[in-house]
Amino acid sequence: MTQLQAFIEKLHHTYGPMDEGQVASYIPELSKANPDWFGISVVTIDGQVFNVGDTAQKFTIQSISKIFSYGLALEDHGREVLLEKVGVEPTGDPFNSIIRLDEGSHRPYNPMINAGAIATTSLLKGDGSTERLHRLLKMFKRYTGQDVFIDMPTFMSERITGHRNRAMAHLMLNFGMIDKDIDAALDLYFQQCSVMVTNGDLATMAATLANRGKNPITQVQAVNEDYVRDILSIMYTCGMYNRAGEWAYRVGIPAKSGVSGGILAVIPGKAGIATFSPPIDANGNSVRGLQVFEALSQEYNLHMFDLSLGRCNFCI
Ligand code: GLN
Repeated sequence: MTQLQAFIEKLHHTYGPMDEGQVASYIPELSKANPDWFGISVVTIDGQVFNVGDTAQKFTIQSISKIFSYGLALEDHGREVLLEKVGVEPTGDPFNSIIRLDEGSHRPYNPMINAGAIATTSLLKGDGSTERLHRLLKMFKRYTGQDVFIDMPTFMSERITGHRNRAMAHLMLNFGMIDKDIDAALDLYFQQCSVMVTNGDLATMAATLANRGKNPITQVQAVNEDYVRDILSIMYTCGMYNRAGEWAYRVGIPAKSGVSGGILAVIPGKAGIATFSPPIDANGNSVRGLQVFEALSQEYNLHMFDLSLGRCNFCI
């Protein structure tokens, strides 16, 4: 067994018994998740795969989808046009905060908070809702290497209860920041959040970003390599909700989490890492996931700004 495999098994064993955090319930369907689910996966850019725990369990991707739809919107419109509609500033506010939309430029601060993600998704090209959804699913397939499906119960659950997201869309419509067809934009946003993945898929998706946008297993280019740096920059500054600063300080690599309990992180030029465990903290980040990433970062010197002499960044 390799040292990395042994190490992730040790982490799984150490953090498995944790019982902090709560499974998200504000989207009723998410509350059905088993709090004991726990998986860790690593995929390297030369295609090596390491898994431990519930890495084949399907769950909905939730906010992690935001980085991928942002990549597609960049391909559709380019940097400058997209910047006019969605900013790149971290907020320090919760992911579902509405307050800042009513201040200043009325432009959502960044594409990782819900308002910015809804605005981003509303910009995706396509002739009608079906084609837009089809483009999104095809994009996810390039990253995962397999067909992806939407979990209908979660989609319906979000659609029925997503009043806050609906309110944000109305506010953005009021300020002329998004197009008038907000129901279609919200549906597409709820659908992208309801895409089903496994933890293994998340690690492959992260490894694709680590590999300049090319899936290291299938060799398919998932996103134009020019935009990978944009995606990673936003992940680094805004990917972990209102814990993004502390994450950058302690772990030091670009990452994105979702309320269903997934976290994916990218070691540029090296590998993708993902964890899945549904209990989340007050910021919306998986409690076991945070522990695993801090330990991995220390053990494998993952912090991008650690330039100590003799440091070997992710030598496995
Ligand atoms: N679909 C969820 C929402 O809109 C995504 C939130 C998340 O994962 N942070 O609230």
